[in-house]
Amino acid sequence: MHQLAILDHSHIWHPFTQMRDWLAREPIVIAEGHGAVLRDVHGREYLDANSSIWTNLHGHNHPKINSAIQKQLKKIAHSSALGLANEPASLLAKKLVEAATPHSAFRTPQLSKVFFSDDGSTALEVALKLAYEFTRRTRGPKAKPRFLSLEGAYHGDTVGAVALGHIDLFHKAYDGLLFKTDKVMSPYCYRCPFNRAKPERADAREYRKCNWECVGAVEKKFVAQKRKGNAYAGFVFEPAMQGAAGMIPQPETWLKQVSAIARSNGALLIADEVMTGFGRTGVQGSGFGVQGLHRNNSKPQTLNTEPNLFACQRENVQPDFLCLAKGLTGGYLPMAATLTTQKVFDAFLGEYHEFKTFFHGHSYTGNQLGAAASLASLEILQSEKSIRARQKLETVLRDELKSLWQLPSVGDIRQAGLIAGIELVKDWRTREPFVLRERAGIRVCEAMSRRGVLTRPVGNVVVLMPPYRTTPKQARQMVRALFASICETFGESKV
Ligand code: PMP
Repeated sequence: MHQLAILDHSHIWHPFTQMRDWLAREPIVIAEGHGAVLRDVHGREYLDANSSIWTNLHGHNHPKINSAIQKQLKKIAHSSALGLANEPASLLAKKLVEAATPHSAFRTPQLSKVFFSDDGSTALEVALKLAYEFTRRTRGPKAKPRFLSLEGAYHGDTVGAVALGHIDLFHKAYDGLLFKTDKVMSPYCYRCPFNRAKPERADAREYRKCNWECVGAVEKKFVAQKRKGNAYAGFVFEPAMQGAAGMIPQPETWLKQVSAIARSNGALLIADEVMTGFGRTGVQGSGFGVQGLHRNNSKPQTLNTEPNLFACQRENVQPDFLCLAKGLTGGYLPMAATLTTQKVFDAFLGEYHEFKTFFHGHSYTGNQLGAAASLASLEILQSEKSIRARQKLETVLRDELKSLWQLPSVGDIRQAGLIAGIELVKDWRTREPFVLRERAGIRVCEAMSRRGVLTRPVGNVVVLMPPYRTTPKQARQMVRALFASICETFGESKV
């Protein structure tokens, strides 16, 4: 075993990992990365098919981000945001505000204030605390602000974020630590009890037969809570695609409909774009929805014509809080941002002795290296070259994924831009799921790793989320490795 692997085994406790399994074999020790390729200490190469847990945008070792960090490093790496301002954080805040409100005329409320923190979880904590306190200040100190999130929700691992989560496997053990939140049905068309359609070899959103019962459920929840005299303070959601819930994509207009319901019932909208932000769900609306996944390839629809960086914008939904992390720095450094409105900001203004200050902050808030990397990443994202490459990659991925419909244990393939979830089932005709202890997703990903493609599943859903600089050839390699790994794992060939 490599010396570094021995050290790892001796001392490192890995996240979301059964350490007994981990210790049973030599781990892959990453030594370097270029574009979509990772190289380990033995010189073996792998494709980074989940963008290093959904963080990396433009590939590893991007010259522009490298150079931005190096340039900043020559000046200063970090100074505190408690009492001091700095250049890259100020510039980045302006750019984020612009990106969050392009063509601001019809987008209200305007997200004009940025609170920096470190990770996705902290971005959510900040939104949660601000929304909580804003509600108490506007509804009165006796108010007991309550939040609604989606079934299967995952918003991070800090205690506040866990309270918003609804994945029993991760969250149940901590019940006693948490404040109460409510959950409501998410639009999981493939497993929706109201979807009367029989399984087809297509994305379930495309052939679903229903009466928008999922939207009805949201409305019911809001109305019932209002009747109790304590209307929801906030509605927390991932727009376009719920990630850790199992890559659950939303049918077109769902977000617009439920946001309108939440707003009309007085709730603040808290959008968690930790995974979906920065173009992950596609360019200019072309990646949204279900088009193209069916065998009878229908033409992509365009929802609007602006180049959108955030998934909310696809349906012109403007939240009160926009939570960003992961891809913010292009996947280089831990940095997060919570954007909010002037109205929320104003509720925290007052004389010093009124103590209306937002008493929250992290040591590395507004870190200069992270901000410099983020500025470079945003510039790349907005370049025509990157937009073109992402559109192309999305099409290649969509076309390649169609090959997987041939496999009986592929139940659903769902894609939003450059995020794809492939749900494994015992048989596509019955949709019968694998039980978790069969480790179906894990086994397939292990087989992919032997083929030089790295990703992690969420339960029975294999995730493909390539870095934007993945070449078409590499994207094909990723899907072909998945195809072969499914065949190997379940001993199957085509339908
Ligand atoms: N929100 C979403 C949607 C996420 O996917 C994640 C992480 N997977 C988080 C929040 C938490 O982010 P972090 O791991 O950076 O704390």
